Amino acid sequence: MLRDLLPELRRSLSAGSVLRENELLSKRTTLRVGGPADVYIEPANEADLAVVVAACKSHAVPWMMLGRGSNLLVRDGGIRGVVISLNAPAFNSITIQEGHVIAGAGIRLRALAFEAKKALLTGFEFMEGIPGNVGGALRMNAGAMGSAMFEVLSSARYMDAGGAVVEKSVDDIPVEYRNCPLFKTNIVTSAVFVARRGSKEVIDQKMSECSQKRWKSQPAAPSAGCIFKNPVTIPTGRLVEELGLKGTRRGGAMISDVHGNFIVNDSNASARDIIGLIEMVKEKALAARGIELHTEVQIVGED
Ligand code: FAD
Repeated sequence: MLRDLLPELRRSLSAGSVLRENELLSKRTTLRVGGPADVYIEPANEADLAVVVAACKSHAVPWMMLGRGSNLLVRDGGIRGVVISLNAPAFNSITIQEGHVIAGAGIRLRALAFEAKKALLTGFEFMEGIPGNVGGALRMNAGAMGSAMFEVLSSARYMDAGGAVVEKSVDDIPVEYRNCPLFKTNIVTSAVFVARRGSKEVIDQKMSECSQKRWKSQPAAPSAGCIFKNPVTIPTGRLVEELGLKGTRRGGAMISDVHGNFIVNDSNASARDIIGLIEMVKEKALAARGIELHTEVQIVGED
């Protein structure tokens, strides 16, 4: 129970860890919606992370990982249990070695792309505009502009639900479209990426192409990126456009009029508003085209 978990965590965690109760998640998600987490923890290091998962296990309190919150739709009632974020410096370093880049799980993809560019390393350009961190991006098998995380990954270090640390080569980690099932129950703590030398001109050009394409095709208002996975037959954005749903509003949320697969929070939306639009799009796609849409954004928490 939470009541017993809290004193144990306060006793056991090192001074560098952050522990807060009733942390509002709307300020930690890019959609800017979501109620509070009962407990929010930023462990100072792997040892403290192990303390958190062990204590949650022994007190039967659920925990979940939070990256930059750019693929999460947290319901208005928030999250019961513990939300863990790897924001501490121990999870936020980048080391460049011969042929490899080692990045902590808390490193933003944009920072990784720019560090690689500074070191004249290619393969990271597509990460420039994905607003997640390394942990969240590996969990989601994030990708853009024809490239994806696991194409540049060499190995990942993670903690299992029992607190043991494991390192696994990319060849031993099965991945699916926008999903890495291994990291559903295991916590990515750092990753090693393959670094290939590139020329400054080519890296610059690739990065600016990615950035321009994004600015032209995506809305600037708060969102969680693509709401739905793309069915094999048609990109969801086009489907939503063909169904005439772009610009549809519910409360403070709107199906973007720039990109049909984005829902934006442009007017103090609630999670309920956004979920209402998601359900409506799903129903219309099924009724009009027989297409079953599945969300890419992860919907978590309580109403
Ligand atoms: P979060 O949203 O915080 O979490 C996502 C999932 O990862 C959750 O299940 C969480 O529990 C889990 N998780 C987080 N950290 C860890 C960890 N350390 N270990 C294990 N699990 C963890 N996505 C793309 O793929 N391509 C795009 O081009 C793209 N463009 C986007 C554009 C915009 C404007 C926005 C808002 C989003 C976009 N996204 C895109 C979606 C999102 O940025 C990616 O899915 C990103 O990888 C999520 O990372 P995050 O750190 O924000 O994870």
